[in-house]
Amino acid sequence: MSNSELNQLSNQYSGSKLGKTKNDNRAIKPVCNLCGCEKFIDSMNRKKVKCKNCGSVERTRIIMLYLKKFLLPQPGMKVLHLAPDYGLSKYFSSILGNNYVPTDINPDRYTKKGITNVRKLDLCKDLDNWQTESFDIVVHLHVLERIPCNYTAVLIKLNRLLKPGGKHIFGVPVMGKAFLDSFGSLNPDENRKYFGQQDHIRRFSSSDLKMSLGMVVPVNLDIHLEDEFSEQELMQYNIPKSKWRNYVGYSLFFLDKSDLLL
Ligand SMILES: [Zn+2]
Repeated sequence: MSNSELNQLSNQYSGSKLGKTKNDNRAIKPVCNLCGCEKFIDSMNRKKVKCKNCGSVERTRIIMLYLKKFLLPQPGMKVLHLAPDYGLSKYFSSILGNNYVPTDINPDRYTKKGITNVRKLDLCKDLDNWQTESFDIVVHLHVLERIPCNYTAVLIKLNRLLKPGGKHIFGVPVMGKAFLDSFGSLNPDENRKYFGQQDHIRRFSSSDLKMSLGMVVPVNLDIHLEDEFSEQELMQYNIPKSKWRNYVGYSLFFLDKSDLLL
């Protein structure tokens, strides 16, 4: 595919009329790489990025691209998934059965979402009670900005649960000009003002990410997703071009257990 064709597809993709150019029958129809659905709806202020069927968003589909690329997980592996989202949960479950362990501080809220086997896990209190080196993969997307305790300690304790050679996969949103956190002392309006959402008590900023998360794990701010995956693939799986480069909050840390810097 030529650059001009790719640009045409990209421009078309970034607009609101997905797949509807006048005489271009080569248009890429975006599809969810978790469930195959071709319908996407708005999510907050982001246009047509949420899968209408499984609820996947950009970061979920990026994680799926990485999982497929590294052929993970394999049957027999054990996966710990914090705050499980539906599409990824179903995918892990289909491969791993009972070796898939979804967890949350409030398991009840998942029943109506169709995820019924969620175990209670308070990241600030319970991690020392879980068996060390018992999981092949630990996954958490947009969780660290919500936990009202020391996030570095939580990362270390989660990493401790990994078997040697295990993968620690996570992502955090970024906003603002600097890292900031509280330990839950602010009210929901103040949380929204300082951290972007009423249930967030911490914000990571790309401007000082190396001074916050980067003291704990390797941080690559110069991400080029198109070096990892083809442009056609990124467009097909509805990863907006604005999310392809740099750490943007939909980016992922895809780390080995041994990558921890502490
Ligand atoms: Zn889907």
